[in-house]
Amino acid sequence: MSIDRRSFLHRAALAGVAAVLAPRGIFSSPTHLTVNDMKLRFYPYTLELKHTFTIATSSRTTTPDMIVEVEKDGIIGYGEASMPPYLGESQDSASAFLGKVDLARFPDPFQFEEILPAIDAIAPGNPAAKAAVDIALHDWAGKKLGAPWYRIWGLNPAKTPLTSFTIGIDTADVVRQKTKEAEIYKILKVKLGRDTDKMMIETIREVTDTPITTDANQGWKNRDEALKMIEWLATKGVVFVEQPMPKEQVDDIAWLHERSPLPLIGDESVQRLADVKKVHGIFDGINIKLMKCTGMREAYKMITLARALGMKVMLGCMTETSCAISAAAQLSPLADWADLDGAVLIKNDLFDGATIVDGKVTLPDRPGIGVIKR
Ligand code: MG
Repeated sequence: MSIDRRSFLHRAALAGVAAVLAPRGIFSSPTHLTVNDMKLRFYPYTLELKHTFTIATSSRTTTPDMIVEVEKDGIIGYGEASMPPYLGESQDSASAFLGKVDLARFPDPFQFEEILPAIDAIAPGNPAAKAAVDIALHDWAGKKLGAPWYRIWGLNPAKTPLTSFTIGIDTADVVRQKTKEAEIYKILKVKLGRDTDKMMIETIREVTDTPITTDANQGWKNRDEALKMIEWLATKGVVFVEQPMPKEQVDDIAWLHERSPLPLIGDESVQRLADVKKVHGIFDGINIKLMKCTGMREAYKMITLARALGMKVMLGCMTETSCAISAAAQLSPLADWADLDGAVLIKNDLFDGATIVDGKVTLPDRPGIGVIKR
């Protein structure tokens, strides 16, 4: 080896060391070493529903909510926790949880893989409160980068799915009226799980041939009766059945899955990433909701895993403002079905964001999650 060549290799080795060290900030600007002065604020908000909302297990006219803001560098990121009471969170529990979140202890607000697991570890449960922080951080980061999240994730905003419009359990007259009001929607989602199931479907079929998805919300307890109902639904233009039986009745759901003529979608059976593998084989797909799964980042991971397992993906919501709906909508080009009508069901939406145009989820061309506070 000539001396020149040895000298060249030596210099190349040093350059390699520099290249390895540079991303860690040793040879680059020290911005990662500055203190993060991100502030977190939160305040309770009560969503007023346009109609009393009844499902198999409960009925209500309002939904407790918490708005979260993070602020740094003059940019505010918005997040939201929607907490239907039957899920166990409240404005008090969210306040207690959010009071323990200190974003300033993390040196870089972009390091979601450091920040979000640490927030998750503050206390078990509290998925909606955790989602509010996740959404606010995503909104802030997207605004700081000047890009909407669908773009950061490499998604095509033209590929958003149709969204269903939900018709709760009600009398025939109200169901008929709501079906007429929902004529812009190309899919209807019908709540089942009580003894009025056939009446609900037949009433809607008197009005329209629009495809129907159904959600029993764990309301069917007997697997033979559940199978008979699903076989009947399959003759009525129904696309799939969500959560036919209680999540504890795993063997019955598996039995039903082997025989069902319609796809079965897990909702209450699937909360977070670790649940996806558990329900593989007993459901054909999963319903992902930000308020169940702690936010956008975990939802993205759940979609990736569900796809790898060959499962269908539905994106759902609670009654929410356009804040959390717009956050979910950023992921929607990855979903087979969306049920993102939560903001349409409330009277006092605090945000302008993703909309529903001709029954299709429509993303605004704005950075972050795409919302403006009204
Ligand atoms: Mg459901």
